[in-house]
Amino acid sequence: MPDDSTPLYPLFADLRGRTVLVVGGGTVARRKVEALLEAGARVVVGAPRLEPTLADWATRHRIAHRAGEFDPDWLADAWLAIAATDDAAANHAIADAAERRYVWVNVVDDVELSRFQVPARVERGPLQIAISSGGGAPMLARLIHERLEAQFDESYGALAQLLTRHRERIRARWPAHGEHGLAARRRGIARLLAGPLQSLLRKRQHIAAEHAFEKILDADSAHEASSPVETPIGSVALVGAGPGDPGLLTLRALRVLNEADVILHDRLVSPEVLQLARRDAERIEVGKQAGHHHATQERINALLIEHALAGRRVVRLKGGDPFVFGRGGEELEALRAHGIPFEVVPGITAAVACAAYAGVPLTHRDHAQSVRLVTAQCKTSLDTLDWPALAQERQTLAVYMGVAMLDTLQARLIAHGRDAATPFALIENGSHAGQRVVTGPLSQLAERTRGHDVQSPALLIIGEVAALAETLHWYGEAPLGALQPVLDKAA
Ligand code: SAH
Repeated sequence: MPDDSTPLYPLFADLRGRTVLVVGGGTVARRKVEALLEAGARVVVGAPRLEPTLADWATRHRIAHRAGEFDPDWLADAWLAIAATDDAAANHAIADAAERRYVWVNVVDDVELSRFQVPARVERGPLQIAISSGGGAPMLARLIHERLEAQFDESYGALAQLLTRHRERIRARWPAHGEHGLAARRRGIARLLAGPLQSLLRKRQHIAAEHAFEKILDADSAHEASSPVETPIGSVALVGAGPGDPGLLTLRALRVLNEADVILHDRLVSPEVLQLARRDAERIEVGKQAGHHHATQERINALLIEHALAGRRVVRLKGGDPFVFGRGGEELEALRAHGIPFEVVPGITAAVACAAYAGVPLTHRDHAQSVRLVTAQCKTSLDTLDWPALAQERQTLAVYMGVAMLDTLQARLIAHGRDAATPFALIENGSHAGQRVVTGPLSQLAERTRGHDVQSPALLIIGEVAALAETLHWYGEAPLGALQPVLDKAA
């Protein structure tokens, strides 16, 4: 056992065909054996009895079994030994015997007796990240393990596989003779990694990734023969940031944010979410607020294209989901016209998030069999809606961008036959710290909204299910019903 300040020496061992002794026949031993077999070791298990799986492997000769109590001779041709018994004296004997024979030994859960430790690891194909706290802080190692698991998606494994498969070609392409050669290889590989390979692999476009690989190898030859190489084209990820609570971001959104060079985000995207992005990513707010057009759609498209053509990894971050009232489709069309590769990461849309955070199930066997997502941004958008259909019962309406149009909405729904007593729930700043929910009957929608001074962003839910907010609310303050609270404040 090293003293507190001496670090362990990490190594990845090639165990193929080499003997490893595991002492113990229980489930802990089985887990160790499993990993050793995966690494191609010849596993000898010594124990009086074996648990069922180990016993089965022994009969099928996947492992060799030495029956009985530990015998130092079991170490005869072993390179490594693992003691996984629950008998402290036996573990001591194994550790001592191994030490005398210069065999590396690990005693499960015993840092003092162990001469080597098996790190926690994140595996992505041939790529492995090993984590160790030297045995002193296993909980910390576990925490970091979880973080790394979340951070690296499967595309890293696929990328490692591709590079491994073409290893000889990469070496031949950039022969590492002398200092200059080595630097050239490093630059070449950096170019491979910066290119679109990984993004294609993430999209599971393996053939396209192979083509891209060939292209980079070729393009580079051309460059070295003649003139400057052109910057590889970047890419755009259209990412849904959810309603604001960073906990509602997807794992993929988080990974993409971690890799971004530039982030173009809406005003609706919360600072907490932005904080999770790569520190040195450039952040550009391109929010559009009703009435204040910080940036027109054309300007946003132009920015996306400009940054991507300059070879950057661009994230276009939008509140909620990019394909729900997010003009995501238009942005993708513009990218496509310029041949810029893109991917889409869905987000939790406001209707889904606000419903959840207000305790309103959007569908319910007794009350609503369908949901409609509707925008009521302006008079024109209201005129194009199918009012008789919207006024039908037993369905839920989730109205986006509606705060300014509530009078019209209320009047038209009732005029087309929706019951004036139909409940509504209006959720302001859904999932944020300051979330407010206003409830009441459709007939009082506009009046209560004004009375409580509800501001954008707010999402309106109309339908029988909205009444459930009264009983199922769990987040923030209870719903505001009649206007009493505001009148109190005024008094
Ligand atoms: N793409 C977004 C919607 C953009 S339109 C999505 O999928 O959610 C903007 C409208 O979304 C706002 O006017 C409001 O109606 C709604 N909205 C977005 N975030 C909200 C939030 N946190 N609380 C309430 N409504 C929200």
